[in-house]
Parts: sequence; C-alpha cells; structure tokens
Amino acid sequence: MDKPKVGFYWCASCGGCEEAVVDLAETILDVVEVVDIVFWPCAMDFKREDVEAMPDGTMAACFVNGAVRTSEQRAMAELCRRKSQSLVAFGSCAHLGGVPGLANLHSRQSILQACYGDGVFTTVNPDRVVPGPRTERPEGSLELPELDGEVKRLDHCVTVDYYLPGCPPPVKLIVDAVTAIVENKLPPEGTVLAPDTALCHDCPRLDSKPEEPFIDRFRRPHQIPIDPEKCFLTQGLLCLGPATRSGCDNACIQGNMPCTGCMGPLSGVRDQGAAALSAVASLMATNDASQADRVAAELADLAGTLYRYGMPSSLLFKKAEQDRTGGVPCPSE
Ligand code: SF4
Ligand code: SF4
Repeated sequence: MDKPKVGFYWCASCGGCEEAVVDLAETILDVVEVVDIVFWPCAMDFKREDVEAMPDGTMAACFVNGAVRTSEQRAMAELCRRKSQSLVAFGSCAHLGGVPGLANLHSRQSILQACYGDGVFTTVNPDRVVPGPRTERPEGSLELPELDGEVKRLDHCVTVDYYLPGCPPPVKLIVDAVTAIVENKLPPEGTVLAPDTALCHDCPRLDSKPEEPFIDRFRRPHQIPIDPEKCFLTQGLLCLGPATRSGCDNACIQGNMPCTGCMGPLSGVRDQGAAALSAVASLMATNDASQADRVAAELADLAGTLYRYGMPSSLLFKKAEQDRTGGVPCPSE
C-alpha cells in the first residue's frame, strides 16, 4: 500500500519550526517509514513546479509554518492548500500571526522607511533605494514578491484544517499529529492539536500561586534572582500561563523563565492578550485606578508582551486595521 504523502513549507518565519522537525532526531526515521515526504524545500531539493505538477489532493497533509506577508507566500499557501487533503497551520506564526505579526503595529510605509530610509543603521544604502516588485536594469528585469499591507495568519488566506501551536510546536505534538494522519484518526476539522487546558493547570509551581489578589508591582526577569520553585507571578514577573494553552511540557517554566504565551489561547477565547490582562488584573492587590496604572506601567512594551505571538489575531489588530482603512473589516472574519 502507498504511504501517505506529506509536505512542509515555510512562509514568514524564523526557521525554528523547520528545526522542530529536525528535532524529531531519530524519530524522523520512524516518520519516513510511514509517510513519503514529497515537498520540503528547506531540507530537500523540491521545486515549485514539482508541486504544481502533482494532482490536486496528492498530499494527505501539508504542514505550513510562518505568517503570510507577501504575494509569493499567498500563492504558495494557495498551492499547498490545493495539493493537500489536510492543511495544517504549523507553529505560532501560521496559527496566530506570530512574532512577524508584531509588524502590524506599524504601517508598511513606516517599515520600509525604517529599513531603507533615514532610520537605517545596519544597511549601506546611500541612495535610499526602496526595493520594489519590479526593477529594470540594462541586464533585464528583476522581480520580487509584493509586500502586503499587513501580516496575516494562514487561515486569513486559505482554509486551514488543523492547527499545531507553539513556537515551535513541541516534538511530541508533531509526532502525535503525524500518527493521527497515518492512522486516519484525525479529530474534527478546525481542531487545535494540543490539550485544551491552561498551562497553569499542569505547572509544577501552581501550588505557590496565591488565590487572592497579591500583585503590587512588576519586575523583569533580568532584574531579580528568580526562585526556581515559586510561581513567577508571586515574584512579580509576568507569566502568561493563566491565558495560554498547555501541551509544551512547561518548557520555559522548566528553564526558569515565565511563559510568553506561544501555544496561544484556549478554545473559545477570542483575544489571548485581553484574557491574559484580565487574569493578571484580577490578581492586582489594589482597586485604585491610578495605583493599578502605576503597576501596569512597569510592564515594558505591553502590546508586544501580551500579543507577542498573536497580533494579527487580536481585537487590537482589527482596530489598527480599521484605523488605517477607514473601517473596512478583515475579509476573513
Ligand atoms: S502563572 Fe506561570 S508560574 Fe504561575 S502557576 Fe501559572 S504557569 Fe506556573
Ligand atoms: S511555557 Fe509558554 S512560551 Fe514557553 S513553550 Fe510553553 S506555551 Fe510556549
């Protein structure tokens, strides 16, 4: 019997999700025992034409990581969608927009200006040349993908069947997903392939998290020696565990660092940053607005902290988008 065919592709991402596949280590041998990898440009020499030549639905599943920002990424997302029976948004960027999604706090123009205009400190660009989709030179035309107005998550562009969360997704969840594909035991479409409980739920430090409001100030991890046993919130360190899905085996907590929220929100939570803020606010030891403001002001880069992995999924993003477009909502929602 033919083995199920699978593919991997990346859009706007750092490469960490591809590393996570490599982190399967010798388990990758078990994986290739049971599936045929027919597309993985990061690791093998596949070309776009190879995928275009496949009959539609050839791949049992295609795992696409990264957010979508360019015309090329949109075209590849659509191609992978067409050629696969199941499309899996792999990792935080495909799932929620990820760290690249923080670019949505700025306009495309201001980003180009910062990178190629006067704000540049790392690029030698005396003529302030801004790359465009087409450049004519005596030798011929040069083409680049177009930069879209904002960063989108994968399901803003194509229908996604499953989501494998995490930055990057935990190896165990990847193996479980591949096993489910091979055994044809995938859950209902739209499922996030991770437990639907909060990280605090199985955190080894949960017993030291007080039930009553107690937060009277915030610190940053480099400012204090961190007790490796106590709940981070108890120590005045912002931990997004209360508003984050579990499934990572508490990877950061085990490394004595607070959770920054990469597994995304639990089912039914519309806005992870707002949920985190609400959880933390309920633990503040004051009802006085000005004192609460003073405590909140100790959190550096609030938007970047609460929405590190999900700005394109947030209500905040919708507001920013509406401000820019004069009220036109995102076409996907
Ligand atoms: S807030 Fe963080 S450290 Fe505290 S119990 Fe939850 S996950 Fe653990
Ligand atoms: S502890 Fe939080 S940030 Fe770290 S891997 Fe788990 S979900 Fe992601």
